Amino acid sequence: MAFSKPFLEEVKRRNNLTDLISRFVPLKRAGSNMVGCCPFHSEKTPSFTVFPATESYYCFGCGAGGDAITFVMQSEGLEYREAVEQLAKLAGVPLEEEQNDRGRPLAPAVKKDRLFAVNKAAARFFYAKLQSPEGEYARAYLQKRRFSDTTVKRFGIGYAPAGWDGLCKHLHAQGFTDLEISTAFLGRAGKNGSMFDLFRNRLMFPIFDLTGEVVAFSGRRLSEDDERKYVNTSDTPVFKKSRVLFGLNFAKNDAQDGLILCEGAPDCIAMQQAGFGNAIATLGTAITGEHAHGHDDPCHHHRLFRPQLYLCYQDSPRFPSHQEGLRYRQRLRRTPARQGCHHQQGRSA
Ligand SMILES: [Zn+2]
Repeated sequence: MAFSKPFLEEVKRRNNLTDLISRFVPLKRAGSNMVGCCPFHSEKTPSFTVFPATESYYCFGCGAGGDAITFVMQSEGLEYREAVEQLAKLAGVPLEEEQNDRGRPLAPAVKKDRLFAVNKAAARFFYAKLQSPEGEYARAYLQKRRFSDTTVKRFGIGYAPAGWDGLCKHLHAQGFTDLEISTAFLGRAGKNGSMFDLFRNRLMFPIFDLTGEVVAFSGRRLSEDDERKYVNTSDTPVFKKSRVLFGLNFAKNDAQDGLILCEGAPDCIAMQQAGFGNAIATLGTAITGEHAHGHDDPCHHHRLFRPQLYLCYQDSPRFPSHQEGLRYRQRLRRTPARQGCHHQQGRSA
């Protein structure tokens, strides 16, 4: 999160939600709340409610809800950052410097070339590890999923070993600095100051941008004891998680008939191997969760390609029900560029 909590609170405090929403929809008082017709779905009986006490809103018809920031995002189709900046401007709150998660100013920028280089070196390392004796279990998983050697090569699938610092040591030996490694989200400094790997004992899927550079990784767990099924690169100067979809570099030329959005890299690769060249995947994150946290929509690419989008998601705690899928589809329908999304339930592994 790039903004500090006090800053966000100040921005929200100085923007009166009822006034903000009244600019879009006429609101009427109903007890201590305000009601009106929902700006996000078409209705004749007002089910859109603003709660001044909590500075929040909720539509009992379509489930749209949130605070001033989400309202600006939803109503104007803005990204989180843009919405916050717009609200800050409206209320005359000066913008603060970008900060990292711990509230410190961001470290001096690492050159993008170096980030591409360090990612490429990491991808080669993971690929070599998959072919080594250490990668035996990972290879067995790939065999179970019936991924051919050609597929493994085409997608550059690799293995991040279980040790703590194999990759960091390898990258150091290649001349990469701690700052370059940590900026690329490949390693982090531990309490004693030495670097440790952020991907451990995982099947590694490099994520390519549309020009074919490795910009990030999606790491799938190999041990069910690992709490997180996927660990993905966080945002870096060359990678915005909410903007990049896995496999789009391969799928972009097959997008005429629409894109099939799968739940993770392995599903996307399986589909591609089976002949669906138009399969892509979100990066192991729930599309709904991304929204809730104010990130961009994975269907953002829809604006670029404007094809039909088919959702191929299984029921999972992160994407709990068909109902939610339908709600998501409804949300996509709110903007004309995003029409034609279909939700299809399927199985994922
Ligand atoms: Zn509504």
